[in-house]
Amino acid sequence: MSLDAATAFLREHVAPNAHAIDSSVEAMGVAFNEMRRQGLMALKRPTQYGGPEISEGEFRTYQEEVARASGSFAFLQTQHQSAVNMIAKQASEEIKSEYLPLMHGPRTVGIGFSQLRRTGEPICKAVETDGGYLLNGEVPWITGLGFFDEYLIGSVLPDGRAVFGFMPFGDAEGQTMSEPMRLAAMETCQTVTARLSDYFLDSRKVAFINDKDWMRKNDAFNIVVQGHFAVGCALAGADIVQDVARKKGFDFLQETATKLYAEIEECRAGLIAHQRDFSEDTAPKRLEKRAWAIDVMMRSAHAGVVASSGAANYFSHPAQRVLREAIVFSVSAQTVPIMEATLSRLTRS
Ligand SMILES: Cc1cc2nc3c(=O)[nH]c(=O)nc-3n(C[C@H](O)[C@H](O)[C@H](O)COP(=O)(O)OP(=O)(O)OC[C@H]3O[C@@H](n4cnc5c(N)ncnc54)[C@H](O)[C@@H]3O)c2cc1C
Repeated sequence: MSLDAATAFLREHVAPNAHAIDSSVEAMGVAFNEMRRQGLMALKRPTQYGGPEISEGEFRTYQEEVARASGSFAFLQTQHQSAVNMIAKQASEEIKSEYLPLMHGPRTVGIGFSQLRRTGEPICKAVETDGGYLLNGEVPWITGLGFFDEYLIGSVLPDGRAVFGFMPFGDAEGQTMSEPMRLAAMETCQTVTARLSDYFLDSRKVAFINDKDWMRKNDAFNIVVQGHFAVGCALAGADIVQDVARKKGFDFLQETATKLYAEIEECRAGLIAHQRDFSEDTAPKRLEKRAWAIDVMMRSAHAGVVASSGAANYFSHPAQRVLREAIVFSVSAQTVPIMEATLSRLTRS
């Protein structure tokens, strides 16, 4: 039911406006506020906090459909849906009761913890102090300025654990945010960097503390899960080829679309087969699937450009937009093993 409502929302408010959403912050805001109004912002929220707790399979289908409709919109809203899932899985009862009942729309939260993936000296550090933590350093990527009320930061403690807490999404005492970044793709998601100088994180704003190895384990868990965005973007590329095939009538265009849809479906089945498989032993297989999703996404997006000819270069043409979106989905939630697997696939003979 909720998956139907979410896909109907995408069909009506996102897919037809994908170009505007990609090029205008205002258009992004209109779609985003409509999604909030329809209460679709917390699709995996547990029933006890308001639901709709859609199944894992339905959620991955939704991820594909939203990326197929608009990569930028997919990227913006997924930050909040991720925050919902993290809070539901890890936060204290007090935080869950305060946040989750409002997260279907009224209360919005982004995320800023990719810095935990970086090796060597942490770039964002926390030390315990009276009543909370003092945070110092940098958060290199936080998407959603102007859209989210707060963001969930991950900051490293001296013993290597990471404290996660709610931060204001804007300048505040001890926090300075950059202007939204100029980006090749998904610029309307308004991604910023934050600099922290003795920012006081009140212990009442702490969501949870994770052990030293959490980021690595979480990334290992997410290897295939994030691949569904690439599948959605690949479908968007194949859709363009299909549309052009109908207009231009060449058999080879239809054959290309058919081949791409078949490969994307096979790749998707591979991701789904590993959906509940988190063991270290299967990581190489799962990395292969993620790399495949990235590879077929890029080829499909490129096929959309080639099939569309010179018109693909028009700023308003979907083919160049989908190709740009594929750049972000090639590196979002990237780890060193994912980078290696992707490059190995791209250079195989
Ligand atoms: C448009 C955009 C928006 C984003 N929004 C968000 C967001 O809202 N929230 C969020 O949490 N993340 C966000 N990200 C981050 C995204 O998930 C990261 O791209 C991803 O985590 C990879 O990190 P990185 O790009 O900073 O690469 P890096 O961290 O620079 O490199 C990737 C890996 O290489 C390793 N590495 C880098 N340099 C060296 C070196 N010199 N020696 C050894 N190893 C090295 C790092 O340790 C790391 O594991 C966003 C990214 C983009 C592109």
